[in-house]
Parts: sequence; structure tokens; C-alpha cells
Amino acid sequence: MSDTMRAVVIANYGGSLQATRRPIPRPGPGEVLVRVRASGLCSTDLHLLSGRQPLGDLPRIVGHELAGDVVELGDGVTQWRTGERVTAAIDVTCGHCRHCLGGATQLCRAMQRIGFERDGGHADYVAVPAANLVALPDEIAYEAAAILPDAVACMYHSLIHQGSVGLGQRILILGVGGLGIHGVQIARSAGAAVLATSRQPQRVALAERYGAVGVNTADAPLEAAVARFTNGEGVDVVVDNIGNRASVRQGLSVLRPGGKLLVVAYLDETFEVPSIPLFKTEQQIIGCRGSTRQDLIDVVRLVRTGQVTPVLGASYPLEQIGEAVARLESGDLVGRIWLTRA
Ligand SMILES: [Zn+2]
Ligand SMILES: [Zn+2]
Repeated sequence: MSDTMRAVVIANYGGSLQATRRPIPRPGPGEVLVRVRASGLCSTDLHLLSGRQPLGDLPRIVGHELAGDVVELGDGVTQWRTGERVTAAIDVTCGHCRHCLGGATQLCRAMQRIGFERDGGHADYVAVPAANLVALPDEIAYEAAAILPDAVACMYHSLIHQGSVGLGQRILILGVGGLGIHGVQIARSAGAAVLATSRQPQRVALAERYGAVGVNTADAPLEAAVARFTNGEGVDVVVDNIGNRASVRQGLSVLRPGGKLLVVAYLDETFEVPSIPLFKTEQQIIGCRGSTRQDLIDVVRLVRTGQVTPVLGASYPLEQIGEAVARLESGDLVGRIWLTRA
């Protein structure tokens, strides 16, 4: 094989994602080389262009959701074989801090993330720690697998672990985008009833197709819809996939006393929380950060057994990253974009 590969990089902050050629990485000790067959495009890939999160030396290959085949094993890797189909957990964690030892690897302070502080999956090849790999059963196509590590596993972590969502609960999901539509399915499969909002009719319809009660907040007030949905009691859990001041205020206003607001998105730098209502209602505001490898394993099983269906929107060849980004920014797409390797 040649020693360079196709890759999508951030070459400088404030620019755009660029298709270029980079050296094929070598797997270090404990790592494997994965030939990437599909990678999920996330709006975070674009947010990284701002430089708000330092990525280390540029150019950086982005892409934190990938699926492919193991093609080479680094020294000391015994648990994988070449040819195995895999996806990978995003966080590369230290393995020995109190959070890692307790299983809360998403809180490791020494983590480096695939597609952030280390090179990612929008490329022909990526080197990742063997400890991050998750096996893919044959029933799950590469493109479906390529949206699991973030768009699906993050919602799973938020709802199941941070929100303790379960049978009979009433959940409000604010925003039916790439994450929200999977949140609808996970909450439904956990036995909860789901109200889901969007300002776009096709997204409301999609949420309803997956078992939610949809509300188009462009023409119906949320408060009235929640009152109908819960007999005036308020929802048990709000999942805020929007993350601005208005969404947090609105989420708290429709939450029942003792309910949980899950903060998944962070568009605005600060939120306002009315102090006396918070005191009187014992509402909980809970941060939700990413997912663990175990969450990804659980999600692979939910997809294999048909409890969750990855919602794919459109695909573009890796080289057409400009077109893919334009489509993502247009906001007219329901479902996730993935990049193919022709
Ligand atoms: Zn993402
Ligand atoms: Zn750690």
C-alpha cells in the first residue's frame, strides 16, 4: 500500500474542514490499525474549527465516529485479529485514575479523544488503542455502526445512566436532531413515554414514527403540550439537546418537582436558573458527557436486537467533505450524515 491516505483535517482554526493526504499512521504498542469503512459527520467536527477546544498540533484529522476492519496489530495486542469488524469508543482514557477505576471513564481528566486531541476517523486508516475497540456483529452495517459512538451512545449514557430513565416515566426530548431521534428510541425501549420537540415538521414526524408524541414548537406552545402529556404534573426527565438559555429555562419550567434536567448540549456559555423554584422543587440539573466503552457495547447490542435503529440521512464520499458540511449546515436533513470510502 502507498504510505499516504485520504484524510479530512483542521489545518488552522477559523478555516474549514479540508480533504487532503496524510501519512498512514502506524499502530503503537497496545494499538491497532483500523481501515475505516465509514465515519459519522457530527456538528462538533465543525465546532472544533473555532479553536475553543485546543486540539494540539495541527493539522488534526477529525472524526470521532468510525467503523471498519482491523488490519494491523501493534505490539502486545492479543485480543483482536486482523479482519475483525469494529467500531471504537471515543475517549482514550488513562485507566488508573479514580474515575477510570470506578468505571466512569467519561470523567477521566487525562483523556485524549479520537478525532479531537488525537487523530480521528475521517481518513482511510486510524490507529486506536485496542482497549477502545468494540466488535461489530455482521448484522450491523458499517454506516450504521459509524454513528453509534456519539449520536447513539451519548443518548444512551444520558438517559439510562444520568437520567435513570425507566418503565412508565414521562420524558421530554428538546430537539430531534442526530442525537434526539436516538434518544426517542432509547427512552421508548426503556419503557418510557416520550414527548419530542422540533420546529421542523419532518423531524416531528420522524419522532412520531419512532414512538414519540411530537410537538412542533414553531406553532404549538410547549407548556400546553406537556400539561396534556402529563395531566399537568410535569415530566420526569427533560433531555436538552439544544443547550441555550431559552431551552434550559423552558426545560425547568415543564419538569415535575424532583425531576431531572439532562444537559447534553452547551450552545450558550452560561444558563440562568431561578433560585427559589429550584430550592422548592428539588429539581436536579445533571451534566451528561459522552459515553463509556461499556455504553457503546450496550448500544451495539440494542441495535443488533432491533430495539434501536440508527437513523441515517445521507452519505458523501470522504473527498466531498465540503458538500457534506454544506448539507449538515443547511439543517434540512433528518438523520445523520456519514462519509464513505469509495
Ligand atoms: Zn459528535
Ligand atoms: Zn483516568
